[in-house]
Amino acid sequence: MSSRTLQAIRGMNDILPDQIYLWEFFEQVVHDCMAAFGYRNIRMPIVEQTDLFVRSIGAVTDIVEKEMYSFSDQLNGDSLTLRPEGTASCVRAVLEHNLLYAGSQRLYYSGAMFRHERPQKGRYRQFHQVGAEALGYAGPDIDAELIIMCAELWKRLGISNLRLEIGTLGSAASRTVHRSRLIGYLERHLGKLDDDARRRLHSNPLRILDSKNAEMREVIDGAPRLLDDLDEDSLAHFEGLQRLLRDQGVDFEINPRLVRGLDYYNRTVFEWITGKLGAQGAVCAGGRYDGLVEQIGGRAASAAPACGFALGVERVLALISMESAGDIPHSVPDAYVIHRGEIADGFAWKTVRYLRDRGLKAILHCGDGSFKVQMRKADASGARFAIIIGDDEAQAGEISIKPLREAAEQVRVGLAEAADLLEAS
Ligand code: ATP
Ligand code: MG
Repeated sequence: MSSRTLQAIRGMNDILPDQIYLWEFFEQVVHDCMAAFGYRNIRMPIVEQTDLFVRSIGAVTDIVEKEMYSFSDQLNGDSLTLRPEGTASCVRAVLEHNLLYAGSQRLYYSGAMFRHERPQKGRYRQFHQVGAEALGYAGPDIDAELIIMCAELWKRLGISNLRLEIGTLGSAASRTVHRSRLIGYLERHLGKLDDDARRRLHSNPLRILDSKNAEMREVIDGAPRLLDDLDEDSLAHFEGLQRLLRDQGVDFEINPRLVRGLDYYNRTVFEWITGKLGAQGAVCAGGRYDGLVEQIGGRAASAAPACGFALGVERVLALISMESAGDIPHSVPDAYVIHRGEIADGFAWKTVRYLRDRGLKAILHCGDGSFKVQMRKADASGARFAIIIGDDEAQAGEISIKPLREAAEQVRVGLAEAADLLEAS
């Protein structure tokens, strides 16, 4: 047997009980907020056919080229992948179960995603996303609704200072026009491009505009902007979105250089960004993907315009920890029941059952131990009260209650009165 200690996979984290109050608070707020906007929960499998992601996210993207956990099923040779994101699975599920026949769909999901990246603060190999998808909606009203739902979520979570950037990628046709203008421009400035940019010149010229190389700043600033090549409908859509956001009092900046790492986006793209998490400042990203339903469904599916977003749960929780964690209630047990003696032991079981039936949280001491040892456990449990049962209390059908978190007298009462007391304090 190997003596090597087993550890979790690099970049994949345990979430320990001391941190759970944050996750549970977050999950409850998300659930309530989604419900408030009429979004229904959907849960998809964690593993899908590799082809689903290659076809939707795009073969020449970071995710598909180098971040996917793909493997072949030993039993039948299928090529499978741990989902790197949720939109493709969600669209697949919607098509597979014909949900769009019943009309447009507002959906949300949450869960673990997997990307083989270099782990660092705020960037993990197993991380969590909450995503919302609105399928079957063409207008900018739903884009605005999704953005406003994010803003509401930030408010309910108690996080502030998130910056909203919006942009538009136009239609496929306007991107083709823009692409050739861009390549033409970059070819005229070939001498000023670095190696990376030259390599991408014909495969993915838009990405060059994303470069962090300061020496290329001037060329990038002077490059033609997609906004100037927009088709009329996309321009109207983008202006419609801006009008709605302004009417609803949502601040935003237009970022003409906003690009997304997945191929399926068109028209609206947006991102919520914080300055508080260093390099991992992107908290939530989304946009419109009008072609994806048809693309995944093949000829059998009728096209359906759609828009959605995904937020990074770990990054949002990091912000909550910095800003509002102090206000989040921890769930603590109401009582820790200490007992010693033959009659007392039986009465202790009856006591915890009674308290739980009344909706209270009661821990029964298990194992041996003197009253003193048990009292120490009661204290360490975080419970608000210790309930002490000896044979003489049990014989009288009573228990002693001792407050653990404040200086107050121990009292001896019947079970019903004890529960009243726990509920009242
Ligand atoms: P980044 O630019 O940080 O790599 P991305 O563009 O790859 O993000 P998306 O695919 O748009 O991210 O996913 C939406 C959100 O999911 C991101 O804004 C981020 O908050 C979160 N996210 C993405 N990748 C990771 C990761 N490896 N670890 C933790 N959170 C992540
Ligand atoms: Mg990424």
